Amino acid sequence: MRVYNFGAGPAMLPDVVMQQAQEELLDWNGTGMSVAEISHRSREFQDMLAEAEQDCRQVLSVPNNYHVLFLTEAARAQFSMIPLNLCRDNALTNYIVTGIWSKMAADEGVRFSDAKVIADCKDSNYTTIPDSINVDANAAFVHYTPNETINGVEFHDIPDTGDVPLVADMTSTLFSRPLDVSRFGVIYAGAQKNLGPAGLTLVIVRDDLVGHAMANTPKLYDYATHRDNDSLYNTPATFSYYVAGLTLKWLQHQGGLAAMAEVNQRKSQKLYQYIDESDFYRNPIPTHCRSWMNVPFILADDSRNAAFLEQSKAAGLAALKGHRLVGGMRASIYNAMPEAGVDALIDFMKHFATHDT
Ligand SMILES: *Cc1c(COP(=O)(O)O)cnc(C)c1O
Repeated sequence: MRVYNFGAGPAMLPDVVMQQAQEELLDWNGTGMSVAEISHRSREFQDMLAEAEQDCRQVLSVPNNYHVLFLTEAARAQFSMIPLNLCRDNALTNYIVTGIWSKMAADEGVRFSDAKVIADCKDSNYTTIPDSINVDANAAFVHYTPNETINGVEFHDIPDTGDVPLVADMTSTLFSRPLDVSRFGVIYAGAQKNLGPAGLTLVIVRDDLVGHAMANTPKLYDYATHRDNDSLYNTPATFSYYVAGLTLKWLQHQGGLAAMAEVNQRKSQKLYQYIDESDFYRNPIPTHCRSWMNVPFILADDSRNAAFLEQSKAAGLAALKGHRLVGGMRASIYNAMPEAGVDALIDFMKHFATHDT
């Protein structure tokens, strides 16, 4: 039996995508082989990857002066690749810290640059975003994390960094709504939250930012390597790329990102609304920066946490345990989480609050 999986990542994928992958598992594309068995140099695989790139460009309206790179790296490899590729002779970099992921990016930036934290929301215990930022005009880039997956804090507007390239770790929010890609120097996202299985990181980079990597940058960490090899320099995580390609087609069939945004906003709003109305649950994030994708909440009586997790699991609602650094619960409700899953969660929460105190 399929359950509603509220895990933060690897996360739920659309049923129809998984079904197609299942149907094609032994004989992909008339090859008599699985996509997991075929050479990444085969025409079939290369065509599939080219189509996935085109679909990604279409879904996100990526301007022509941006490269779309498929990398078989952890998302956090970008914490190093960004400064290695963008710093040139300019060592000053700017970081906005709004939670655990942006902090980790800034800590890695220190290894390669004069990384300056220009805003840090730690006084709020990472429950908010900065009111304003002061960008250094000579910084090589400003890095931020539009959606903090663990803290459940999201920027709903893109910060203005003037001419300084803006770099965004969109791992847990890319594809949740339409995006003006032209506002960014680099956008990157690990696939395992909102695109496909783990093993793939998508990088969308403005073309003038490629080809200037620092001396001694590992070849694998130079964007130019991947640009020049059509994302096939090394052996990629072929199966993940294929499933990501299916998810992009699924997004198109859903009506694209405008349609996704409507559902995602509605899903998150009804959950927050119930949490706010109840005395039993609480979300600490101010309304203007609440995440659409990751909804953390705590129980008024945290001695009930274990019972909540046990009973929700029995009700077919999986992986609601919050991150160990934040505690409580977290419902990750990415694109693949149907609205019915959120309704089922709210029903369960109501039931638990009235029957189990
Ligand atoms: C999950 C996550 C990551 C980590 O991805 P890895 O592929 O494990 O490195 C990085 N940034 C954000 C915002 C995430 O949500």
